[in-house]
Formats: sequence, structure tokens, C-alpha cells
Amino acid sequence: MNILIVETVWMGSASYKFLDKTLLTAFSILPTLQAREIAAITPKNHTVSIVNERYTPIDFQKNYDVVHINFVTSTAPHAYEIADRFRKNKALVVLSGLHASGIPEEAKQHSDSVLIGRPELAWLVALQDIEQHKIKPFYQAPPFETSTRLPPTMISLPGFVITGALEATRGCPYQCDFCPETNIPGGSQYYERPIDDVITEMKTIPQKTLMFYDNSLTIHPEYTKELFRKMKGLHKRFFCNGNVDVLARDPELVHLSKEAGCVAWLIGFESVSQETLDAIGKKTNRVDEYTQAVHNIHRHGMAVIGCFIFGFDTDTPAVFKETLKVIKKLKIDIADFSILTPFPGTLLFKQLEQQGRILTKDWKNYNLKTVVFTPQQMIPEELLAGVQQMYTEFYTPLYAFKRILRNLDNGFYAFFVVFSRTIIAIMNSRRVFTKVKKSKGFKKPTMP
Ligand code: SF4
Repeated sequence: MNILIVETVWMGSASYKFLDKTLLTAFSILPTLQAREIAAITPKNHTVSIVNERYTPIDFQKNYDVVHINFVTSTAPHAYEIADRFRKNKALVVLSGLHASGIPEEAKQHSDSVLIGRPELAWLVALQDIEQHKIKPFYQAPPFETSTRLPPTMISLPGFVITGALEATRGCPYQCDFCPETNIPGGSQYYERPIDDVITEMKTIPQKTLMFYDNSLTIHPEYTKELFRKMKGLHKRFFCNGNVDVLARDPELVHLSKEAGCVAWLIGFESVSQETLDAIGKKTNRVDEYTQAVHNIHRHGMAVIGCFIFGFDTDTPAVFKETLKVIKKLKIDIADFSILTPFPGTLLFKQLEQQGRILTKDWKNYNLKTVVFTPQQMIPEELLAGVQQMYTEFYTPLYAFKRILRNLDNGFYAFFVVFSRTIIAIMNSRRVFTKVKKSKGFKKPTMP
């Protein structure tokens, strides 16, 4: 069969400025992975092409037997437009991804079939059924077995691809209330690829720098330590996600990561309030371990990329000032600030919907930079302005420059990661946020 796999780009509701677009198409720093994983597992008797509109317009006139679109919530409206156009042309359309898995009934209205959960294995079953002309409306992803082998994924993109990407593991068992990744069916099943397969794949990636897209490389420390030991001598440089508990308590893992070529750990701190972390079920984080986790990473000359979310029910307008104070004290190198977003399928979405607090179901606004629900302890404009203010304060030219310079001591790659992620953070914050309207009760957040 002639198959097209479409990957949708996360653009939120904003349009790119000319310079941003030129930079994004010329350099790929964080390449997309999932469409390429789907292409990689597709049996070789099919002809497969991948299209990403960032680089190439979609040719709707071409005859495809099957079009597979993988998307997230903020790209759902656009993915549905693409699906509808292909269906008009009589192509068979399959949808997958976090949004389609969260509300498959909606996705089914724009497709012939929906893959629910991680798409790779369900895709194989769906393809067999399509060949036998007995496609089903929904496919629930079969669980990964220990014997499951996932093929390597080649990242070949137009432009200059700076970073390669791969996943050693799948899923996350922790199921934080707000997390769309693990609240989809099967998303909390944790699966580890055989380490030798991961190493073999890594050797085929031409780029020296890599991003592990795994939800967290600290879920099973013994697996990760073995992976890091086997990476020694490959001369790769990489950054990856990890959780506070292991990074604070397991200095050996942090040490091995440095020896394997790690230049930065990305940590979902989410909040600097233990009360908030307890309320959202973020079991891996203890605020009193933040200092130790960051210290262990910095001690080995690696950078810390911290992610923070605002708008939890426990957050008051004082949360911005408190968070900035802690971030500065911890000396976090790069920070990403998001507005709490109730993605369909999550416990958070169900709770807010029951409470009548969902403000919009215009999915393109579910981009982490728009307030789509009524916060408990502030008005939406305060939440939006607070997050914008966090970017302004954290990325003041002098403060950003100091952090970049500080990482020069950690070698070129740590410097490069901090430099490039700073540029990405500034670009993202400029292009995605909407203007704050100052309605009744609005107070501009104060900062330290
Ligand atoms: S630890 Fe991270 S990936 Fe796992 S459920 Fe929580 S937020 Fe999601």
C-alpha cells in the first residue's frame, strides 16, 4: 500500500514570524520523533512517506491508500482539516496520538479508524486489517511484551539537523493527574527496549548530539545505569528527562550520565510547593530534595533545565514570586514556564469539566500558553500575566547572558544546549502568548 504519515507541528494559535520560521526550517534542534517511529515499524512491503508541513506542503492530489496523522491536542483542529480533505479524496484515514487517545469518539468523526494508546503496535494490527478490507473503528494498543522489539528510527529531515533523537523506554508508571502522556490507555505501562538495540540505534545516528525523548530516564535506575555504561566511548553528547527523587538520591547514576556524555538533565519540577505536588500526585518530587538534585547535576558540570507549571488549585498570585526566588537560588540554567492545561483524557480534565471550569474546547488553545479553565485562586488574566512575567524576569538579557557564560566552563556542548534552549524559550514565549486583557480584579504580579 502507498502510505502517507503526517506529523503535525505544535504551533498553538500563533503564526511564526519570518525570522522564527526561517530559523526553524533551517535548523532542527528538537526533531519530531513519533511519526518516524510509526514509519520505522511499518512493514517494508508498503511504500511509506512522511510529511511535515514545517518543511513541505502536503500534496492532497497524490493518491495514497492510507493516510496516518499523529497529533496532539493543540494541533487537533488542523489535523482534522487534513483528515477531512484526504477522506474527500477517498484515502483511508487513521488517526493517533495523545488527543485521539484521550477522546477517540471525536477523532473517529474525522477518520476511518483511531489508534488508542501508544500507536506502534496498534498500527501493525490495523494495517493487517486494512489489507484484508476489515478495518475496525478503534484499535486499543496491545501491551508491550518483554519480547517486543522496536526498530531503530532514522531522523532524516530537511535543513541542518543538529540533534538526533531516540527513545530507550516507553510510558511512565507514575500517572500525575495533569500528565497527558500516562493518562492515555496504556500510557502508564513502562517498557524498556533491550539496551543493545538502543546502543545499535545510537551508533546509526549521525549527529553527535542526541535528545532522549523518554518520559524519564530515572524510572528504573539499574536499567539506565547499564545504558549509560554501554554508552561510554560512543562520544555522543545528550540531554534527557529525569525525576528529582533519583537525581537527588543516586549520585552514581548522575556520575554515570556524565561519563556517558550527558550535558543537561531536564526536570519536571512543576511546583516549588510540596502541598501542590502532593495534590497533583507528583510522587517523584520532594521540594526538600531539589537542592540536592540540582547540586548533583551541577557538580558534574551538567546543566539543569527546569519545567514549572502554574495554575494549580493551590496556587495563589504569590506563586510567581515564590517560584522565581527558588529558581534563582537553585541556579537553574534554563526554565520553561507553562500554564496548567487540562488535556482530554487526564484526571484533571475530568475534574474541571465536572466542576464546570473548562472555559473553552477550542483545542488549538491547549498549547500550555493560554488559560483554558477557571483557576481557583486567581482570575485567568492574572495567571497569564504571571507566566509571561516569569519569562520576562528569567530571561532578562543580563541574567540569561550570565547563565550562558556560566556554562562555558562545562564545555562547548553544555554551553550550546543552554544557549540554544535560551533562544528557543525566548522565541516560544514571544510567539505563543496572547495579550493580557486587564479586566476587573486584575493585578500585575510583583516579582522579587
Ligand atoms: S512523572 Fe512525568 S511523565 Fe510521569 S506521569 Fe508524572 S509528569 Fe507524566
